[in-house]
Amino acid sequence: GGSGAHRRISILGSTGSIGVNTLDVLAQLGGRDAFDLVAITGNSNVELLARQAQDFGARMAVTADDANYVALKDALAGTGIMAAAGREALLEAASADADWVMAAIVGTAGLAPTLAAARRGADIALANKECLVSAGDLFVTAVADGGGRLIPVDSEHSAIFQSLEDDQHHAVERIVLTASGGPFRTWSREQMADVTVEIAKAHPNWSMGLKISIGSASMFNKALEMIEAKHLFNLRPDQIEVIVHPQSIIHSMVGYTDGSVIAQLGAPDMRTAIGYALAYPDRPKLNVDRLDFAKLARLDFEAPDEVRFPALRLARMALERGGVQGAVMNAAEEVAFQAFCDGRIGFLSMADIAEGVMEAMTGHPTATTIDAVFAADTEARRRAAELISKKEMAA
Ligand code: NAD
Ligand code: MG
Repeated sequence: GGSGAHRRISILGSTGSIGVNTLDVLAQLGGRDAFDLVAITGNSNVELLARQAQDFGARMAVTADDANYVALKDALAGTGIMAAAGREALLEAASADADWVMAAIVGTAGLAPTLAAARRGADIALANKECLVSAGDLFVTAVADGGGRLIPVDSEHSAIFQSLEDDQHHAVERIVLTASGGPFRTWSREQMADVTVEIAKAHPNWSMGLKISIGSASMFNKALEMIEAKHLFNLRPDQIEVIVHPQSIIHSMVGYTDGSVIAQLGAPDMRTAIGYALAYPDRPKLNVDRLDFAKLARLDFEAPDEVRFPALRLARMALERGGVQGAVMNAAEEVAFQAFCDGRIGFLSMADIAEGVMEAMTGHPTATTIDAVFAADTEARRRAAELISKKEMAA
């Protein structure tokens, strides 16, 4: 914004875990006295969406689900806040005149709206890693063409972003993504075979939405993050390492050609990464826990196990194959995740489905257009649904 004007902010996915944390950060940094909330969007939790819009004096609130339009309109009646619903309204909200957009819709549903915000030229604070996994360089190019900045919010990628020295990109040898290992870090495959959603979603360190919590248990989240890192930091597959670090204190690291490793550490609290993305290149003053090293006493590390957690192997496959394999892997796993949540397939089957679809779609073209990405996404979903039905019939 111009001199004295408030910064204009939109939050895509304001009712989720990242969305709620983003509003908390905005509140800590001055709330409606410091920011103009342009648009916030949600899906099913209309009550929370309406409350957020009123608390913050948002200009518009949008639910992605048409069925929720009347409820949202009623909840905002007389407030002067515009209520809207549906796909088109979501794209309009994303294209509104914000300076900074938090992209925090979960899954591929976030791709089209985030692309719209990027093309309009807003700075994109990216929590929705699926954008980069599916659309990769096309998404990075869309942000660059729009003229805004792409600032990672995923804690690992924020850590790398913070550990990268401006003029030293040529001297980066590798990045090391840390992974907590999730609730099944020490479990055998036999033990994981029968777990329920309730057990799988209980993350030891972070409090997050359902999809990413299950993805932490299967390490599919780390798989997505490997591909996210490739596109954010323009890396070769062999420069991307994963290390299991159960305490989640080191959020990730950058290794340089002189043998130095620079890391970013902090409490496992997404508000630090969100605040950094908001204030970048400055640092905000945030009320989050400070690390007490004497209390921590130790930090542990273990090599990741690609046999118990095949998602990591699938990510390497997708990285090496390139093209639309990221979109294929992501779409297939999204369908398999839903089937696991619905009790249709077991926990370990999620990776089987993703691998089956990836293997069936190796001959696909490189992703030179967004339409090619969406086409691959659609085909991968169809093939995943077929594999799930087959598994059900065999069971
Ligand atoms: P969440 O499930 O808590 O929230 C998702 C948000 O997206 C909600 O506002 C929901 O209403 C909205 N939404 C859901 N389906 C939608 C649809 N079809 N169309 C439009 N909107 C829809 O998820 P989250 O944990 O906040 O994660 C959001 C994104 O941030 C994900 O991509 C996740 O991987 C990433 N991320 C989250 C965390 C975390 O700590 N939660 C950390 C790193 C990255
Ligand atoms: Mg992460």
